[in-house]
Amino acid sequence: MNFEFSEEHLAIQETVRQFAQKEIAPTAHEYDEQGVFPRDIINKMGEMGFFGCLLPEEYGGTDYGFLNMVLITEEISKVSSSLRGAMNMQCTGTAYNIFKNGNPEQKKKYSPPLVSAQKLGCFAITEPNAGSDVMAMKTRAIREDGSYILNGSKTWISFATVADIAILYANTAEEGDGKRLSAFIVEMDSPGITTSPIHKLGSHSFPTGEITLEDVKVPKENLLGNPGEGARILFGSLPDTRIGCAAGAIGLAHACIDEAVKYCNERTQFGQPIANFQMNQHVIADVATAIEAARLLVYRAAWQKDQGVKNNVLETSYAKMFAADVAVQSADVAMDIHGAYGYSAEYPVSRYYRDAKLYQIVEGTKNIHRIIIGQDRLGIRKANR
Ligand SMILES: Cc1cc2nc3c(=O)[nH]c(=O)nc-3n(C[C@H](O)[C@H](O)[C@H](O)COP(=O)(O)OP(=O)(O)OC[C@H]3O[C@@H](n4cnc5c(N)ncnc54)[C@H](O)[C@@H]3O)c2cc1C
Repeated sequence: MNFEFSEEHLAIQETVRQFAQKEIAPTAHEYDEQGVFPRDIINKMGEMGFFGCLLPEEYGGTDYGFLNMVLITEEISKVSSSLRGAMNMQCTGTAYNIFKNGNPEQKKKYSPPLVSAQKLGCFAITEPNAGSDVMAMKTRAIREDGSYILNGSKTWISFATVADIAILYANTAEEGDGKRLSAFIVEMDSPGITTSPIHKLGSHSFPTGEITLEDVKVPKENLLGNPGEGARILFGSLPDTRIGCAAGAIGLAHACIDEAVKYCNERTQFGQPIANFQMNQHVIADVATAIEAARLLVYRAAWQKDQGVKNNVLETSYAKMFAADVAVQSADVAMDIHGAYGYSAEYPVSRYYRDAKLYQIVEGTKNIHRIIIGQDRLGIRKANR
């Protein structure tokens, strides 16, 4: 067992840390308050090669691997939980998914512009009546000559309003057919697609929206994988995006404790820094320990993927569930430590507090991960199949 990062990991971590401080931190809070989506920063992240972690050079990638992807995501999330989401939109959930499941033409056409951020991506699973129960989705794709005609609606889709390309899941067979989902690469400027933004509690620099599809014609060449392989592609991609999400959670948790520690040493009450009060030391100790544990779970799951263990659903759920809970716990502690100032929109902890809750909802709610883990441990349903 080796807990040391390689020289390469440390160099990438340091590069991203500097990039995040220089390019993202100065405007992160202001952009969040104003709901600005900083396309220029996303372009720079693309130029830096962040979105190419999981793809080989042939497709514009850097082949850094999952552990480096996690380190990059964590560093971005320390300064902007909003912008860490771009790692999943540009890399793990789209370019990498196409790389894994696409044919050579699809990989050549769609992965490089996502990696460079020349094009923006999204993945569209959730529907108004299909959230945790993804197989309940109703969007239909009917084969007509050389195309599929798509009708339906998707909701809560990150980047929906800005994306050029979507990986979108739809039914291609009658209900009751076990193999009814298919995955499509949809060009978002196709006639019949409309999008609208969703106003949300946090992550304001990260647009989220609805997609409506009315007789949208998608060429059969844009089917990802084979007809009926949508469920395999979808459930194969979730452990990838979930680990990115878990990395975002530990980055945010880290930001929370940094602010809490800083404030503990700055703020005086009863004639001394509030850091001197054992009750504050106690909560800092608990949350610092939880962050370390979460970090180890996330790094372990990413490391496993780099070792070729791609179906580590169980270890990914441990990491995602725990890291999300720790992000919420850390934001709560940071808020407590700041007293009234935590509640001020001017202090970053108010943003962290709003952003943290997201991690218990997206990429499988906290209940869904408890179900995956609980059923595995009880021998009801094995997670790693
Ligand atoms: C900001 C944001 C960005 C998002 N981005 C994307 C995206 O890019 N692409 C995408 O496809 N989706 C996206 N989502 C959607 C997200 O994946 C869903 O919100 C999530 O899967 C939960 O679905 P739901 O909100 O419909 O909740 P529901 O499934 O309706 O769940 C409601 C509550 O019931 C609980 N519950 C549900 N089923 C069970 C069960 N069997 N046992 C116990 N409890 C249960 C849940 O845990 C939850 O507490 C995003 C959501 C948000 C908030």
